[in-house]
Amino acid sequence: MQAPEQAGNENPFELSDLIPPSLLEEIRGAFQKSLGITMSFCIGAPTKEQAQSDRENWPIPIEFEGRHLGVFRIHLPIKRLPLWNPSIPDTEIARVVESLLRPLLAMLLWMGYRSHLAAQVQLQSAELAHRTIENYKMRLEKSEGVIQSAERIKANLLATVSHELRTPLTAIIGYSDLLLSGLAGELLPEQAEYIETIRNKGEELLALIGAMIELSKSERGAIQLDRTQVDMRALLEEVVQTLSFQAEKKQIQVELDVEKDLPPFFGDPLRLRQVFRNLLENALKFTDEGGKVRLCAKTKEIPQEDVTGPGAAIFGLPRRALEISVTDTGIGIDPAHQERIFEPFFQVDASASRSQGGTGIGLALVKSLVEAHGGRIRVESKVGQGSTFFVSLPLDEEEREGSRLD
Ligand code: ADP
Repeated sequence: MQAPEQAGNENPFELSDLIPPSLLEEIRGAFQKSLGITMSFCIGAPTKEQAQSDRENWPIPIEFEGRHLGVFRIHLPIKRLPLWNPSIPDTEIARVVESLLRPLLAMLLWMGYRSHLAAQVQLQSAELAHRTIENYKMRLEKSEGVIQSAERIKANLLATVSHELRTPLTAIIGYSDLLLSGLAGELLPEQAEYIETIRNKGEELLALIGAMIELSKSERGAIQLDRTQVDMRALLEEVVQTLSFQAEKKQIQVELDVEKDLPPFFGDPLRLRQVFRNLLENALKFTDEGGKVRLCAKTKEIPQEDVTGPGAAIFGLPRRALEISVTDTGIGIDPAHQERIFEPFFQVDASASRSQGGTGIGLALVKSLVEAHGGRIRVESKVGQGSTFFVSLPLDEEEREGSRLD
């Protein structure tokens, strides 16, 4: 096939882009039907047989959009045409056939050109979309790298600063204790009260620093679990007992409902105590006087995707888990904030939380401790009606076998 001229055209096309061979076949069929002759078409040079009877090959130049695209040859056995007449020159008959074919060819070329353009536009927009996606991907990868290094710097800074703060703070608390004990001399009641305040605030600050160190450790994945068989009933009873003073102060009724024969959990008792103490503390903090808080522990089947941590990929089967829930009748959490409360330092109402002694670190730490145990935490809540925090801790089958607590 003859190559198209390209000069001055930004969007070069081949003749085959415009006239698909299947269309030529269709025309051939139509001519055969209407004129009763078999014609053959060729674009460009004639075939061997066509060249043999050169007189029966009629070239029609193909011009389109001011460009010469090639030659359309019709193999036309003139003598077999119904309109053949020895008195009319062959060239005249060919001219008639050509005049019939020309508009048809022009229409074909135009249709082909249109669909060619449409295909080009589609191709270009697909390419553009692909390039845009690639661009976004690159930018995303870049910013992910920046975020990761910023996170690392933040975690290291948090750990170092917190560590450095702990030493002077321990001295402040220690000297306050010494003054309060009277070993350094008798204190006036007012002085004792001030020093007591210094001591208490120092303790609060120490607890906050401790939580920040823990959080930065958990963000670096550096929390070490000291796992052992944990009797969850005993652990929850102890947590409720520890916070009974706070509950009584607000006249909040705390209920504990633990399933009979609850299997032991292979976990770190200190960390688990920290998790449930934090959840119960929050429940008491965000519930008005006279409200109710209920802790519930039971076994449950969980879908595989609810398992996190190193053991998460074990087979695709559902697994058993301990589900411990903490329900309160408190202020509740707006759906828009329910995911965000697990982010470090996020507080729905910072001023209210701070006045109650909150820092916004608790739930972030709770989440990473639960996940370090391969578990999940989620919340269900309605504003004004209360919240339930669900902690699910997967029971490892091997661990569970023959390891019941007495
Ligand atoms: P904080 O030290 O402020 O309690 P947390 O990380 O424990 O920090 O909780 C983050 C925020 O989530 C809280 O400030 C509060 O807005 C919300 N929140 C947590 N627990 C509850 C609850 N039981 N009821 C209502 N809001 C809660």
